Amino acid sequence: MSKNSNIENVIIIGSGPAGYTAALYASRANLNPVLFTGPQPGGQLTITTDVENYPGYPDGVLGPMMMEDFRKQAERFGTRVVERIITKADLSKQPYTLWSEDEQYQTRTVIIATGAEAKWIGVAGESEYGGHGVSACATCDGFFFRNKDVIVVGGGDTAMEEAQFLTRHCKSVTVVHRRDELRASKIMQDRAKANPKIKFIWNAVVDEIHGRNEPTKHVTGVTLRSTLNGETSHLPIDGVFVAIGHKPNSELFKDFLEMDDLGYLRTEPFSAKTKIPGVFACGDVMDRVYRQAVTAAGTGCMAAIDAERYLESEYPD
Ligand code: NAP
Repeated sequence: MSKNSNIENVIIIGSGPAGYTAALYASRANLNPVLFTGPQPGGQLTITTDVENYPGYPDGVLGPMMMEDFRKQAERFGTRVVERIITKADLSKQPYTLWSEDEQYQTRTVIIATGAEAKWIGVAGESEYGGHGVSACATCDGFFFRNKDVIVVGGGDTAMEEAQFLTRHCKSVTVVHRRDELRASKIMQDRAKANPKIKFIWNAVVDEIHGRNEPTKHVTGVTLRSTLNGETSHLPIDGVFVAIGHKPNSELFKDFLEMDDLGYLRTEPFSAKTKIPGVFACGDVMDRVYRQAVTAAGTGCMAAIDAERYLESEYPD
């Protein structure tokens, strides 16, 4: 195991809007931060297309391009970006220790910006046909379903957004929801219900996803089960988009930090401070409510300022 002799001031884990904004602020404060990108450099926005609601881009921007801009801006002030995954953490004592496989790093502060990832239903066929008809990202994969029939599983804002987007490509989009009432906001519901290409199947869940391997691996249909009477039925379909929410990437810190019932890291109100001094959390890993790029960037800024103040008070020299 190799140990880096330096004790870093700030290590940032994650490279979405929260991580890069924390890096921008920390590097402009001369803290010489190191940012570990994690498994998906650029985060969730690299698997979207148009971002229209990030202020400052009046004509919208492509998600991957925006994240490239975030990275460049953080690097301009000296952030060291390391394309590795942090695999283990010990937050029990100062300096805190992080590992990326066999490499060991020590740091006075840690900014956790590990984000969240899509949840899956967990039924037969789902992982087998992942990337071959099963997806959790309409903006990434919708294009492959031109003139096809697809379903979207879920009843929240994400499901409505995905369904709406898919109507640009698909022949039909059917939302399968386990209740008879959507969770989505009124405006998103109204838009989806007004779209003639979107149909709804209420009170149903997907029990199994079927497909064939010839000529190439593809989905052929799903078994639906009624949540009212348990009856099953077969629905022929070309694609399944799963939109049932996200789970925060907080597993690594479960022995050290407080989390809510869904695994989101807890911070002090309107602060990025966790219960461990010098350990801060920002972005989707601690935000179960807003989960927007702009809010993630905002909390990334808070985390860097909190880290700077902590270092000033604990390590004045
Ligand atoms: P969500 O609000 O938690 O909704 C998840 C949906 O999936 C719910 O309808 C839920 O059903 C259903 N579901 C959960 N587990 C399921 C399972 N195992 N099988 C079948 N269905 C299941 O998640 P989200 O839609 O991703 O939204 C998360 C947050 O992001 C929300 O605050 C949302 O407002 C926000 N968001 C905003 C926008 C926007 O404003 N443009 C876009 C996307 C997301 P139940 O309803 O029965 O629980």
